[in-house]
Amino acid sequence: MIPFLQHNPTRLWFGKDQITQLSNEVGENKRVLLVYGGGSIKRNGVYDAVINQLKQVNAEIFELTGVEPNPRLTTVHKGIEICKTEKIDLILAMGGGSVIDCTKAISIGATYEGNVWDIITRKATATSALPFGTVLTLAATGSEMNSISVISNWEENEKRGWGSPLVYPTFSILDPTYTFSVPLDQTIYGVVDMMSHALEQYFHRIDNTPMIDGFMESFLKTVMNAGKELVNDLENFSLRETIMYAGTTAFNDTFSNGTDGGDWGSHQIEHALSALYDIPHGGGLAIVFPNWMKYCAEFDPTRMKMLAVNVLGVSAEGKTDLEVAHEGADALRSFWNSLGAPNRLADYDIDDSRLDELVEKSFMKDQVGSYKILNKDDVREILKMSM
Ligand code: NAP
Ligand code: FE
Repeated sequence: MIPFLQHNPTRLWFGKDQITQLSNEVGENKRVLLVYGGGSIKRNGVYDAVINQLKQVNAEIFELTGVEPNPRLTTVHKGIEICKTEKIDLILAMGGGSVIDCTKAISIGATYEGNVWDIITRKATATSALPFGTVLTLAATGSEMNSISVISNWEENEKRGWGSPLVYPTFSILDPTYTFSVPLDQTIYGVVDMMSHALEQYFHRIDNTPMIDGFMESFLKTVMNAGKELVNDLENFSLRETIMYAGTTAFNDTFSNGTDGGDWGSHQIEHALSALYDIPHGGGLAIVFPNWMKYCAEFDPTRMKMLAVNVLGVSAEGKTDLEVAHEGADALRSFWNSLGAPNRLADYDIDDSRLDELVEKSFMKDQVGSYKILNKDDVREILKMSM
C-alpha cells in the first residue's frame, strides 16, 4: 500500500424518510438555491418533500431548473449569476450526477471573480466555495459523496472532469424510494457506471492491497447480483437500497485507499464520446470498458485475470493468462448486455467519421490511463474495437 489520508467530510443520511433531516441541515432563515433537472422531481414527490422541509425553517427559495444530463457550462453560469445577485447562502442539488456536478461548479464559481471554466480546466485554483447539499434521486455516479464534477462545454465540444476538496457536499440525503421512478435505461446506466468506477480503481499497480481488492470484488459481485434482479423489479426497496448504497461507496475515496487511484482511461475515452455525441455516460462505458480490458490485457493480463476468476466466474484451468483475461472481458460484456446495456457505438449511430477528433478529445488531460498509459494509437484501436 502507499500512504494515504482518509478524510471525506460529507455527512451522509441514508435510508427511508431521511429527508426529515433536511430542515436541520439547512438551518433557519437561509437563502437557498434549488438546482434540478428536467422535472422528474416534480413527478415523483421529491420536490414537494423538500419544499415542506424548507418551509419549516423559513427558507427563502430560488430555483435553477433544466440542468441537462451531461450538464453544460452555460447552465453553470446561470446558477453562478443567481448566487451572486441573490446572495445565496446554500445550494441544494436535487437529482442525479448531472445536477450535483453542475451544483459543484456553481458553488465554486459563485465565490470566484473570473470564469469558472478556468478552474474546471485547471488554469486557476479556487480558494473557496459556497456550501451545498444534495438530495440524490439516481444511483450511479457517487457525486453525492465525492469531490469530482464533470462539465460539458458544448461550444468547444469538451467534457471535462475536475475536482477540488472544496466541493465535497456538506450533506447528502439518500432515500432509496426516491429512485423507484428511475426508468429502466437510466437504472442500467447507473449500474454500469458504478461498476466501472470500481473497475477503474481495481486496475491499479500497487502491491499488497488485498483488503481493498477484496472490497471491490465483493462490491462488484453484490452489484451484479442486485442489478440483474433490479432490472425486472424496479420498485423493489431492498434492491434499490443495495444499489443506492453501492453507487456512493464505489466512488467516495474508499476504493482508492492505499493505491495509486486506478486507471480511469475508459472514463476519459467515454468523456470524449459524450463531448462529441452527447450519449449517456453509462452507455458509453458499457461499450468501451470491455474493449479497454481486451486491448490492455495484451500488455499485462495480471489484474484482468484476477477479476475474471474472482468476480466474473471464469475458470483459469488449462488456459493462458491472456485467454482468461479475454474471457473475463467477454463475461463483463455479456453481463451488461444481459441487463440491456448497449454493445457497440453503432447502437448510438456513431461511426468512424470523427475518429480523429475522438482520439484528440480523449487527451484532455496529459495522460490517458495509468495501469496502462495509452498513446493516441492505443486509444484509436480501442475506439475502433468499439465501433
Ligand atoms: P443524470 O444525467 O443526472 O440523469 C439522467 C436522467 O435521469 C435525467 O433525465 C433525469 O431527469 C433522470 N432522473 C434522475 N432521477 C430520476 C428519478 N428519480 N426518476 C426519474 N428520472 C430520474 O444521470 P447520472 O448518471 O446520475 O449522471 C451522469 C453525469 O454524471 C454525466 O455527466 C457523467 O459524466 C457524470 N459523472 C460524474 C461523476 C462524479 O463523480 N461526479 C462520476 C461519473 C459520472 P430529470 O432531469 O428530469 O431529473
Ligand atoms: Fe462515471
